[in-house]
Amino acid sequence: MNIIQDFIPAGRRNRPGRVNPMRFITIHNTGNANKGSGAKNHAVYLKGDIAAGLPVSWHYTADESGAYQHLPDNEDAFHAGDGAGAGNRQSIGIEICMNSDGDLRSATDNAARLTAILCKKYNISPENVVQHNRWTGKNCPQMIRNNRPYNWDIFISKVKNFISGESGLTAIAGTAIATAEQMRAYIKRINPDAPDFAGIFISESRIESIRGDIAFAQSCLETGNFRFAGSAVTLEQNNFCGMGVTQNGMKGNSFPTPQIGIRAQIHHLKAYANAEPLANPNESPRFRFVQRGVAPYAEWLGIQENPQGKGWAAGAGYGEKILRILSAVLAENAQPENLKIFAAPSFKSGDKVKIKQDAKIYATGQTIPDWVKSREHTIMQTSGERILLREIFSWVFIKDLQKI
Ligand SMILES: [Zn+2]
Repeated sequence: MNIIQDFIPAGRRNRPGRVNPMRFITIHNTGNANKGSGAKNHAVYLKGDIAAGLPVSWHYTADESGAYQHLPDNEDAFHAGDGAGAGNRQSIGIEICMNSDGDLRSATDNAARLTAILCKKYNISPENVVQHNRWTGKNCPQMIRNNRPYNWDIFISKVKNFISGESGLTAIAGTAIATAEQMRAYIKRINPDAPDFAGIFISESRIESIRGDIAFAQSCLETGNFRFAGSAVTLEQNNFCGMGVTQNGMKGNSFPTPQIGIRAQIHHLKAYANAEPLANPNESPRFRFVQRGVAPYAEWLGIQENPQGKGWAAGAGYGEKILRILSAVLAENAQPENLKIFAAPSFKSGDKVKIKQDAKIYATGQTIPDWVKSREHTIMQTSGERILLREIFSWVFIKDLQKI
């Protein structure tokens, strides 16, 4: 990302210049909705005569174009309102622009990117990325705290994804982690009348080496859990992914059987996931419109989140919505069909555990970063072979845990 250094001159009152041990990163929204109040204008303000006479400064301002840096990271500043407390003296302050003519989502994404860069550079744990609210109780960052453009949990998960690089994202290619039984348990609980296509999702996706559980979660999203209420398509079309519904009111494509419809969806997902040839003859009527491999990760299926601005759907957070459903599917306590039964010790809520060094992925498929393995965790919930850890709010496999 583009970071422009434009420091407040040394000696000004708002550049106190004490050593900042950089233990925390504090996130703010500027509180300034005025048009034109992007990062550059905040840099001008901080260097100007009004700010020079005030105890007001921070390290970075992020907007949709990138960020301005106003102070060296290892100097303290006046942004947390806690006097000589850890907010002002021991943290790096990042302001996120919220000007009405700006792009709040891109600005917030850039702030998450910048936060990840700083976490890596100074070995700051994401647990020490905090809201301004933490220091004084102020309602800041006011936009994120109001779920705009998304909430704090999502902000932190983006930071973690950026820290671990692309490997922290959820690859669409690969083998399903959820079992057909878990998919059935999930959909029956939500919609008892739903048809049972779980086996088809698993078998069709295995042929193409695509994650059938991601495809299933996508279908739950696109069909309203196979109720088709308010959906452009109907059950009879055997189109479970909104294929061909390129604008409101369009009916979309139809397929002769559920199996062919699901195959077309898997083929289309493969078009986005990579440039590998298809195993079966192509069934997706829109395959040729996709730039192959442009969205290898579920998080990038939404056009707004895709680095190249391409993807399956235009709505904000499309991939996140799919992954939220996938997490719920994985939380179903169905008997695993495919997983080995591990002779694991019994775990219960409240137990303290560590993640084994050789553990590779979360139960939701993302790579486990090393910093997570070096910490103690507390069991929040158990479900079959999976366990939810409180501190990172993530599902891991029992086999990857050890008691401490
Ligand atoms: Zn603030």
